[in-house]
Amino acid sequence: MKKFRLYIEIFAAILVLAVLVWIFFGSYLEAGKPEIKFDQEVKAVGKQKTIGIIFSDSKSGLSRLSVEIIQDNKGQILSDKKIPARGKQLEKVSLNINAGELKLHDGPAVIKITATDHSLFENQTVLSQAVKIDTVPPQINLLKNTNYLNQGGTGFVAYQSSKAIASTGVYVNDLFIPAHTISLHNTPSYIAYFAVPIDADKTKTRIMIFARDEAGNETNIGLPCVIKEKKFRADKMNLSENFLRQKMPEFQAMVPSLKDKTPLEVFVYINSQMRNENFQTIQKICQKSSPKELWEGTFLRMSNASPMALFGDKRSYMVDKKAVAESVHTGVDLASTAHAAIEAANKGIVVFTGALGIYGNAVVIDHGLGLFSLYGHLSTIDTTVGKNVAKGEVIGHSGISGLAGGDHLHFSILVGGQFVNPQEWWDPHWIKDNITKE
Ligand SMILES: [Zn+2]
Repeated sequence: MKKFRLYIEIFAAILVLAVLVWIFFGSYLEAGKPEIKFDQEVKAVGKQKTIGIIFSDSKSGLSRLSVEIIQDNKGQILSDKKIPARGKQLEKVSLNINAGELKLHDGPAVIKITATDHSLFENQTVLSQAVKIDTVPPQINLLKNTNYLNQGGTGFVAYQSSKAIASTGVYVNDLFIPAHTISLHNTPSYIAYFAVPIDADKTKTRIMIFARDEAGNETNIGLPCVIKEKKFRADKMNLSENFLRQKMPEFQAMVPSLKDKTPLEVFVYINSQMRNENFQTIQKICQKSSPKELWEGTFLRMSNASPMALFGDKRSYMVDKKAVAESVHTGVDLASTAHAAIEAANKGIVVFTGALGIYGNAVVIDHGLGLFSLYGHLSTIDTTVGKNVAKGEVIGHSGISGLAGGDHLHFSILVGGQFVNPQEWWDPHWIKDNITKE
């Protein structure tokens, strides 16, 4: 009996010792392997490519990290890092692979990554990633483009590439407009509509097609085109006390912080801040567009309506003969009778209905491939988001909602999230010459 108790005591002591050993030395004896991940997928390497690798080990920590590139059975070390202190659980390594300096040729290669931990067993993980070395930049084959670009107008470009592309589009100065991929004769082709800035300049404005392949090789080609100057009007608009008193409470109700401001202060706010916010909202709406061209033929212009203001009109708002605010008109104002029926200018899908700040009750229609139309100041909205509308289908009625002095329609066309002159889209010759002509 005594002997049996002794056994139990010895067993308990061993157990306690084992637990203590585990607590103090456990991480030395762990068998968990480190983990290796790329921060983004690496399939191809061009002339130069920066890759990011994330190493982790949740127990004893990382001790040695090495990266090698192997081609034709010849390995070259890209990075070899030792971490003497225990417990480093996460390490990010960023590497620049320069195919020229490493004398890599186009063809297959392997990036071999090894991570070892601080365990007594030196647990090791090896990741071998097959990659393609590819130093040939994509070649752009221009299919169609607008030769004459009007200031404030729309530019159009269609092209193909000699190889698969990861990112492509048009740069207008620093503004990037991603192209839409379509299939043309079973070959992937790219189409982009872009806005020509109102102040575009023959010599200073850069318009380029940009393409980057999976390996990171980039191509930029300047678009062969001529920028034509256009005269824009400048007018002065008197802000009458009556207008401010009548209109500003509508905006004070929308923005609580305007509650105690004078009508003129409210106007200055909505003409700058609210105008900018509305533009950002519109750009967000225009970010997603149908991958198919939905429109057909000339865009409709509101019938029996006279233009009250044109695209690009520079407005100075006057109080007591002093300019208190300025704006550039983003569309064409058209007026006929009060509460006139407003028709969809072309086929498309309704992507926005509702209150849109200075534009009042508004409707936005997506015509595909980044082309949109916007209808503002409506009194009623008679359509819903997601609806496929026909050309000429009634979508609402004109009104004075938003920043409008009298009943009219504010009509805008947008390409790539920027306002352009709608007049070109009302002109069958312009559409034929620049977009639809084979
Ligand atoms: Zn307007």
